[in-house]
Amino acid sequence: MSNTPAVTTPLAFDVARIRADFPILGLTVAGKPLVYLDNAASSQMPQPVIDRLVRYQTTEHANIHRAVHYLSETATTAYEAARARLQRFINAREAREVIFTSGTTEGINLVMHGWGRKNINAGDEIILTVLEHHSNIVPWQMLALEKGATIRVVPINDAGELLLDQYEALFNERTRLVSVGHVSNALGSINPVRQMIALAHARGVPVLVDGAQAVPHLAVDVRDLDCDFYAFSGHKMCGPTGIGILYGRAALLESMQPFKGGGDMIHTVTFEKTTYAPIPNKFEAGTPPIAAAIGLGAAVDYLCNIGMPAIAAHEHELLRYATEHLNALPGVRLIGTAQDKAAVLSFAVQGIHPHDVGTLLNQEGVAVRTGHHCAQPLMARLGVVATSRASFAFYNTLADVDALVAGIRSVQKVFA
Ligand code: PMP
Repeated sequence: MSNTPAVTTPLAFDVARIRADFPILGLTVAGKPLVYLDNAASSQMPQPVIDRLVRYQTTEHANIHRAVHYLSETATTAYEAARARLQRFINAREAREVIFTSGTTEGINLVMHGWGRKNINAGDEIILTVLEHHSNIVPWQMLALEKGATIRVVPINDAGELLLDQYEALFNERTRLVSVGHVSNALGSINPVRQMIALAHARGVPVLVDGAQAVPHLAVDVRDLDCDFYAFSGHKMCGPTGIGILYGRAALLESMQPFKGGGDMIHTVTFEKTTYAPIPNKFEAGTPPIAAAIGLGAAVDYLCNIGMPAIAAHEHELLRYATEHLNALPGVRLIGTAQDKAAVLSFAVQGIHPHDVGTLLNQEGVAVRTGHHCAQPLMARLGVVATSRASFAFYNTLADVDALVAGIRSVQKVFA
């Protein structure tokens, strides 16, 4: 699967009409129109998703899976319909392979507890990459510490691309798992996960993909990727916070221990013995975030109406334009120049700390993220403590890029 669209079609994409769906984009900040370029941290919510949440809360809410009354059945139907939407969105074989979690972090921790603690033992090895977000490092470190396992790390070149020959060289008979980000949140590099999965499978090693930064921007097909697990978050794809998805192959999920015990995940309970419900319920203990799951289903409908290929093409054009204009700014250095990139631009402004860049851009109404982006090992590899990061969504415009460029110029003037 090539993740980069061959042709960009910015004119066919009615970004003004799309922006009208996002009430928050009409805000002014510091007296200037808001230019929201922090989408990798969290994206904004369109009116149809807000409306769906309001409709649920005003006419459909009750606890799910437990009662026979009208509202409970209505809520259960809507919750399971959302699961089916997510299944189609990522092309999973079956709806029961789609587990509602609180987000990517919980999905990865679920695999660590449910699969890792059973299958990873002393002396075993887990392959990660230097590009990973902390949420795809720390759980594995906790497991490695508990079990006496070792973490091996795939390096990158200076552009922020994984070195595949070194990846292959890390495998040995103790390798038990590969866990890799699909798209780097700090640099935007799109990793060749399909190829990495094939290489791992050739050695009998399962692969978890952290798709937090991929699902909002690319058409993701878990069957085409052939991944074993795929985790992502609703709030980065126009959905609510507190909801996410863990996709897992049915056979793997069935073989796993539940991560949390409680109501709704059991078949029978006695004080002597408990048997568990089938998947997906086995992994959804307690009352889930019902409204958020239904809202995420509405977000998927919204994205599908626009079309993921159209979204990817528009964002590719934004990235191309922004790269060209930031590259042309004296004193600005792009950090992360992979061939295959999603719409994330990390940069350094010579002589100015990233936090000052972010604070001064905010005074121009431009929201960017500054810091280590929860990727401290990557920052150490790049020899920086922090970067400034502009991250785009499909509702951003070329004018937003112009505002960023003008903002950086005015920051430079303050420090001149
Ligand atoms: N992985 C990546 C690549 C991310 O960008 C993020 C969020 N910044 C996460 C994992 C964690 O996502 P969440 O906080 O929604 O669990």
